[in-house]
Amino acid sequence: NNNRILLPSQSFTSSTSSISSHKQSSSYDVIVIGGGHAGTEAATASARTGARTLLITQNKSTLGELSCNPSIGGIGKGHLVREIDALNGVMGCVADESGIHFRMLNRRKGPAVRGPRAQMDRDLYKMNMQRYLGVSNNDGGDDGEMFYGVENLEILEASAEDLLLEEGVGIEALAPLADPADVDYSSIDSSTAGSPTNKNERIRLEKAKELSSAKANVSHRRARIRGVVAIDTTTKERMEIESTTVVLTTGTFLRGVLMIGHGRYSGGRHLRDSEEVEPPSVGLALTLERFGFPLGRLKTGTPARLDGRTINWEACLIQPSERPALPFSHLRQSRGEQPPLAASGQLIDCYQTATNEATHKLVSDYAHLLPQYDGMDGKGNGPRYCPSIYKKVERFAERSSHNSFLEPEGLNSHIVYPNGMSGPYPEEIQLQIFRTMKGLEKVDIVRPGYDVEYNFVNPQVLTHTLEAKSIAGLYLAGQICGTTGYEEAAAQGIIAGANAGRAAGAAYRGEKAPVPFVLGRDEAYIGVLIDDLVTKGTLEPYRMFTSRAEYRISLRADNADLRLTRKGAEHGLVTDPERLAALDMRQELIASNVDRLRNFKLYVTEWAERGGNDLMGGAAAYRTGRESNKKSAEEVLGMPNVSLKMVEQIMADVFAEDQSAKLSTVDGESTDDQRESAAKLNPTPSSVYDTVEASVKYKSYVVRQEKDIESWRKAQGVKIPPYIVYDHDVMPTFSKEEIEKLDRFRPATFAEASQISGLTPQCLVYLYHHVMKLN
Ligand code: FAD
Repeated sequence: NNNRILLPSQSFTSSTSSISSHKQSSSYDVIVIGGGHAGTEAATASARTGARTLLITQNKSTLGELSCNPSIGGIGKGHLVREIDALNGVMGCVADESGIHFRMLNRRKGPAVRGPRAQMDRDLYKMNMQRYLGVSNNDGGDDGEMFYGVENLEILEASAEDLLLEEGVGIEALAPLADPADVDYSSIDSSTAGSPTNKNERIRLEKAKELSSAKANVSHRRARIRGVVAIDTTTKERMEIESTTVVLTTGTFLRGVLMIGHGRYSGGRHLRDSEEVEPPSVGLALTLERFGFPLGRLKTGTPARLDGRTINWEACLIQPSERPALPFSHLRQSRGEQPPLAASGQLIDCYQTATNEATHKLVSDYAHLLPQYDGMDGKGNGPRYCPSIYKKVERFAERSSHNSFLEPEGLNSHIVYPNGMSGPYPEEIQLQIFRTMKGLEKVDIVRPGYDVEYNFVNPQVLTHTLEAKSIAGLYLAGQICGTTGYEEAAAQGIIAGANAGRAAGAAYRGEKAPVPFVLGRDEAYIGVLIDDLVTKGTLEPYRMFTSRAEYRISLRADNADLRLTRKGAEHGLVTDPERLAALDMRQELIASNVDRLRNFKLYVTEWAERGGNDLMGGAAAYRTGRESNKKSAEEVLGMPNVSLKMVEQIMADVFAEDQSAKLSTVDGESTDDQRESAAKLNPTPSSVYDTVEASVKYKSYVVRQEKDIESWRKAQGVKIPPYIVYDHDVMPTFSKEEIEKLDRFRPATFAEASQISGLTPQCLVYLYHHVMKLN
């Protein structure tokens, strides 16, 4: 008999007092399937709640693999990483340990849309993730702060083939099955949606209807998770492993098919820089189908990797890293530390080149050699916001050039990632395309780019905890839910893992289901991401942007810890006492610095009040005004175009003038008062600088935003006239995508419009004003 129950090898030790009565049993509380970005975050989050957790992954050596771009963060994505970190997650810490190039994107724009991004040393990221999880052979030696192994977490190298389920009607799900917020795509047929003339759009609508009716089936079934059937990678032994909950995070592996040119082969992804392919997950796809889960088909792609030794770097534009570098980890930031490789001066430069007309000609001429996909009329549903070079050339025909960043993959690697250049042409065509670009005239390819097409589950079948509505105890997270990107996957992983762990703990103790750990759209980008997925679903790979968040002025990368760490602690997710102590300290520091600005008075001339912001007038501009124009430094900072740096400069100038006036009257001796005021003039420390600036500058916006949201809520029932023309000439502020989607779905009310994936809150506000004008 090759069936056996796998027993946990270590006794349960709880890291939270709430589950400390939980004894060892012959099964796990939580099994996480898949060791990608969603899986590692889910497994560690579950373990932090005190649940005995097993991570099953096909190959331990691919834990921490960055399948595509060797970078973490960016606009919207960087916000997610900081939120994951605020919840004691893994991604930010490992990214700090492995980062070799750091930048704050949008630094010149407002703090709300600034996004931290760092390029990784691909090998280091993997190694550090494996060390964190305790599976690396490397015993670390001088490991600094790096944590080895996670309490309550075991890892098994196996392939999950099936789910063990207790089936039957009447099994209570952990969340209500009917969700009134569900969009019913079947109601959006061609009579209300207009007649999509474009074949692709018709197919897209058909697909939506198909997903919707499959969704209807699933909501009538009932089952409960009992465990997982897995095949040991080494021994090929079949195991039945029991567990109370399961988190499924199989990424692009569900019926994955890889494609280069017209060549197709089954697989989840290529093993790094080699011809070897990781096997697809077919058994699980069949199980999900058997339970009526609505599966769709999406695709994504990765560009060729280039040999850096054959690049003419001097012909390219240099992109240096920021120095000093800002870490992702709140803890590291509060300690005033830089990421380790930045601290030891080991950062690298990236470079920029661009496509040109010769590139575009090849891209178009050889389009007939691109793969034929299964989804979307053979064209594939790829990520709109991370398009292939072919899509860019087709979609933006008016542009004669597109930038590409050349990103070295590591400190000791000659492999270079050409960002923005995916395109699964046959290898020789890929080479010709690259060689048209400046600096790449003699480039060699190390491994050709390829696309992968895979099954995903329509996430509308999930609740906000990411639990399946039809199968109690089954959670889904990551690319399997229709997203793209490491950060989006990790963000879902932490929520699914936390809820699975908490639910299993409560079930073990015979308690009622715990309060779900759910983040609202007003609390976190993670909340926006999950709410978008489970209420609107997605028909193309979903990626996070700041424009998706209606509360983005409050949801900044700099204040993720202030928003989330305490809530994480209340739900057993933040278990590191140093994090809470650091949070207290940061809050005090922010408050004292805002107070300092509030208590420092400046005279503001009319010129300055009108928005004059240059420092040419210096202190004088702020001292010669009328008494009635006296303002606090806090108020001055709230004025347009004034930065905290400017205000602090003015304060220092004013103070210096006062001092020299006073010193001349007190025999050159400085008094205690003066010394105390001088101390208050220390510039805001870098660990709280962005937060102090943003909280003062955005104070009035936040109040206005809250009012807007309130009136928006009231507007949900307002009707949108059926005759409305969606056209760029009439609606210049709308993006091409927004016009396209509104025209395709033709929502009848604002409640319906708000369910359409990809419409930003701002777009809905514009639409509202437009409709009000028409009425
Ligand atoms: P993954 O990181 O794919 O991890 C899945 C894990 O599950 C793997 O470890 C796998 O071994 C394991 N697994 C699968 N099936 C089983 C099973 N049955 N049993 C046990 N373990 C199993 N993102 C972007 O943002 N932009 C891009 O341009 C982009 N391009 C990409 C190109 C390619 C070719 C690929 C493969 C991915 C690309 N991505 C891109 C996506 C990015 O890699 C994913 O979004 C992210 O890795 C998803 O994380 P995940 O945890 O959901 O899945």
